[in-house]
Amino acid sequence: MFIDARSLSDNTSLNADLAIIGGGPAGITLARAFAGSDVKVALVEAGGLEPDPGVQALYEGESIGIPYPLVGSRLRFLGGSSNHWGGYCRPLDPIDFEARDWVPHSGWPFTIDELRPYYPPASEIVEVAPGYYNDSDHWRQEIGDMPRPVTGRMRLQFVQFSRPTHFGTRYGPELKRADNIQVLLNANVVDIRANHDARRAERLSIRTLSGLRHTLSASYIIIATGGLENARTLLLANGGAGLGNQHDLVGRYFMEHPHLVGFGEIVVADLKRIPRIFRERVPDQGRSVQVAFNPDYGFLRERRLLNATFMTGVAGEYRQPPQSPPADARAQAHTDMLLAARRLLADGDGPVKPQDPDYLGLWLGIGCACEQAPNPDSRVTLSQQRDRFDLPRIRLDWRLGEQDRRSLVTHMQSLALEFGALGMGRMALHVEDDGLWPAQVSGGSHHMGTTRMSDDPTRGVVDRDCLVHGMDNLYVAGSSVFPTAGSSNPTLTLVALALRLADHLKERMR
Ligand SMILES: Cc1cc2nc3c(=O)[nH]c(=O)nc-3n(C[C@H](O)[C@H](O)[C@H](O)COP(=O)(O)OP(=O)(O)OC[C@H]3O[C@@H](n4cnc5c(N)ncnc54)[C@H](O)[C@@H]3O)c2cc1C
Repeated sequence: MFIDARSLSDNTSLNADLAIIGGGPAGITLARAFAGSDVKVALVEAGGLEPDPGVQALYEGESIGIPYPLVGSRLRFLGGSSNHWGGYCRPLDPIDFEARDWVPHSGWPFTIDELRPYYPPASEIVEVAPGYYNDSDHWRQEIGDMPRPVTGRMRLQFVQFSRPTHFGTRYGPELKRADNIQVLLNANVVDIRANHDARRAERLSIRTLSGLRHTLSASYIIIATGGLENARTLLLANGGAGLGNQHDLVGRYFMEHPHLVGFGEIVVADLKRIPRIFRERVPDQGRSVQVAFNPDYGFLRERRLLNATFMTGVAGEYRQPPQSPPADARAQAHTDMLLAARRLLADGDGPVKPQDPDYLGLWLGIGCACEQAPNPDSRVTLSQQRDRFDLPRIRLDWRLGEQDRRSLVTHMQSLALEFGALGMGRMALHVEDDGLWPAQVSGGSHHMGTTRMSDDPTRGVVDRDCLVHGMDNLYVAGSSVFPTAGSSNPTLTLVALALRLADHLKERMR
């Protein structure tokens, strides 16, 4: 059932067995897992069924570190940020779960084996094929042969693309039909009140932008407001005293997947040398898939590096400017490289367009998503600025370190070696090895780490079951619980974790 919180009488008191705050992929996955059961679920969503500028403005805040779009990187209505996600899906790698002695604060409380049973149903929820992310024979049979990496530095993986599934429109009707689920729309949770010793979360304070106030009491409460807002919700909880923050960990360890724009390009003389799956998404039974390059695990261990994912795609053609000479020495070197690459890479049939003397070759653009090392100083806190409910806005200080940069530069060099060794292209790198982060670094709208998971309450906000340390019944769902970020887009994994949390809750409620 859908209920608009603005249509209730002021000061309505509601109750449920399970209250889920936030109707994005995490919250909707959890609610669906209880559909048709005898558990009374309330899914409390700040927005409605469509975007609303007034609601969206509640996501404004301060960014005081690497510039970050706090409003543009998330959406506040049913379906959450899945309303404009890109749909890139790949599980985390086994190495991402390990405590690596070269990555401070790394290590999940469990290995990937704990999530393996949940990835296939999570893949179905995001509507990609359940499996086939590794360099197995599957895609080679489906799509045709493709080269295997030769340098020992890189592996091939496969990224699958969701439609992309918009969780609100895709699963909203199912939630609306479920007798045991109430979806409360336009309902902003402004506080989670706990009992006298702050061990039990007892009720939610809810406000609407139209000025109404309601409460919702529940036996179990799950915070699923997104990777940034989960931390803010805990910091604001219990009348501003905060919950789960006894070790000053809430909001720390914010991680993104640093993306660089224009850091390099791959010169290709002959498109025939590049299998299609390396340059574009290949349709497969109504879905699509593309190759990604990831560092070999042995290479990561040997060089003590962070993980990374690179994807390539045809981005344009090089053409010789007819008369004008290159503007400077760097441009001249670039043109020389293109001409050399064209000769080197042309196969027996000659370049693709021999009749066009100005044509130098194609270029592949490169997208990267790199792992960022957990850093306690990269963090979310509360701002002095206030929102329309007079609550402190979010304040983000995103920081990257030298280890992050060193890994990225090394992997770009590896990618250049790999493309050269495979005879597929030559790579021009535009990032100097000068110890500085280039100005073009940006995030991928992947918000991780701010309520990290650890069995040790002095090192994590939630335990292995996503239960807030020190609390009996308050849980967190979403990528904020990731202790490390890996280099895979986070949604598939956070959906898998939400399914695992649903199993845990069902067991507890039995
Ligand atoms: C442009 C873009 C592209 C992306 N591309 C990809 C991709 O290709 N692959 C990938 O894996 N990920 C991608 N992502 C990230 C992906 O969208 C998120 O990982 C995912 O949406 C997170 O799900 P969530 O449920 O944890 O949080 P959200 O989607 O943020 O949902 C949180 C929900 O909580 C609600 N809420 C917030 N505060 C309150 C409150 N106080 N009270 C009540 N409700 C509240 C919000 O309205 C929202 O509906 C992308 C994101 C963006 C923005």
